[in-house]
Amino acid sequence: MKEDLNDVRLSPHFRLSEFLNLKKYPENMPTMQAVANMSYGCCQLLEPARFMVGPIIVSSGFRCEEVNRKVGGVRNSQHLIGQAADIRPMNPGQFQNLVEFLKTWEYTDQLLTGNGWLHISWNPFGKPRHYIRIGYYK
Ligand SMILES: [Zn+2]
Repeated sequence: MKEDLNDVRLSPHFRLSEFLNLKKYPENMPTMQAVANMSYGCCQLLEPARFMVGPIIVSSGFRCEEVNRKVGGVRNSQHLIGQAADIRPMNPGQFQNLVEFLKTWEYTDQLLTGNGWLHISWNPFGKPRHYIRIGYYK
């Protein structure tokens, strides 16, 4: 089951395994709705971003309640429903380009940056909020 899940592509360049981190958190199993939400995020945000800045590393994608507690995520985190990812470009020199791209991208719901990381969220069910906070993480 887990091996099968790891092979699933959410979009041409992103696999479900990158969003689940099952090696570290074997309990981190998403609902079908969460998988659909992640696929939406990959297609509408991460693929276009990758096109602009090259390969993107996903450090945290989906989090079940238990994993979200372990990592100290906020209670209503969009990570819980597959609508967020913490990312950085593989090439550190592309960080600012990635921020600039996502700042104005029409599908960006929330963008929080700082400390070399970006938290990006999306919402397949509503109008993106474009809530942008640069330097949020200290
Ligand atoms: Zn996050």
